[in-house]
Amino acid sequence: MELSVVNHQDYFAKIGDDHKFPINKFGELANYLISKNIVKKFHKPYPCSEETLKRAHSENYIKNVKNKTLDQNIIKKIGFPLVDSVIQRSLVATGGTVLASKLAIKNGVACNTAGGSHHANFEGGAGYCVFNDVAVASHYLLDRGLAGKILIVDLDVHQGNGSADIFKNNRNVFTFSMHSKTNYPAIKSTSDLDVELHDNLEDSEYIKILRFYLNQLNDENFDFVFYIAGVDIHYNDRLGKLNISDDGIKKRDEIVTENFFSKGIPLCGVLGGGYNKDFNKLIELHSILHQSCAKLL
Ligand SMILES: [Zn+2]
Repeated sequence: MELSVVNHQDYFAKIGDDHKFPINKFGELANYLISKNIVKKFHKPYPCSEETLKRAHSENYIKNVKNKTLDQNIIKKIGFPLVDSVIQRSLVATGGTVLASKLAIKNGVACNTAGGSHHANFEGGAGYCVFNDVAVASHYLLDRGLAGKILIVDLDVHQGNGSADIFKNNRNVFTFSMHSKTNYPAIKSTSDLDVELHDNLEDSEYIKILRFYLNQLNDENFDFVFYIAGVDIHYNDRLGKLNISDDGIKKRDEIVTENFFSKGIPLCGVLGGGYNKDFNKLIELHSILHQSCAKLL
């Protein structure tokens, strides 16, 4: 069976080529997945509705984003200009994770080619994240009885502080974040399970720690998993402070996706961060998630 992958041309917002965020990666990743025959045809999402968004974000915040009346301080915290293409991008990328989660239930595994906006909380965005797509999709599944006990495996180099905040008092969603202690955010939130890694951590130790915590999580009865596969753990990342190789990322993605797929727990993979100094390498690294999932089917 072919892996279901969600993509939309609007993922690539116009924020200027000189912007610090490598926004071009969304278009290039889609091209790469097609050219390598990993995907033949993408599933196209709708922009996320306000009704669905407001389970994870305040109505006030959603309105201010849509009307471009957001406070300058919050816009600054997000790091993107609040222009039409950024707003559209945030809505379709969130709709994309909702769609991918439904496809994961149908097929066992599915992926978005964006998503993992884990710094956004109920009241506002931050750190290149406008809407917390995984939080929105979690609520979507819970509300419809499509899942009852969700696990978020967040292996981006940065802590999933927005997800931790949103699900602080929600016993149906378990947040697991394994991240670099010294990376953003300086003040961390409290996930259900936080694992803080020291600077320059290398493959073997990283994989050992990952296996240890996955084993622990396997004792719980989760019936759905979101996997945020940030590749900013790579040694050549501009932001991440870990020292993980291409092989380490491949191993990580294979371990995580196989672990849940083999137990029949639907898994929805989302991109997470990646700011590699080498743009072509960045695309290749992000595609490892899709390749690992495709191999399962
Ligand atoms: Zn990150």
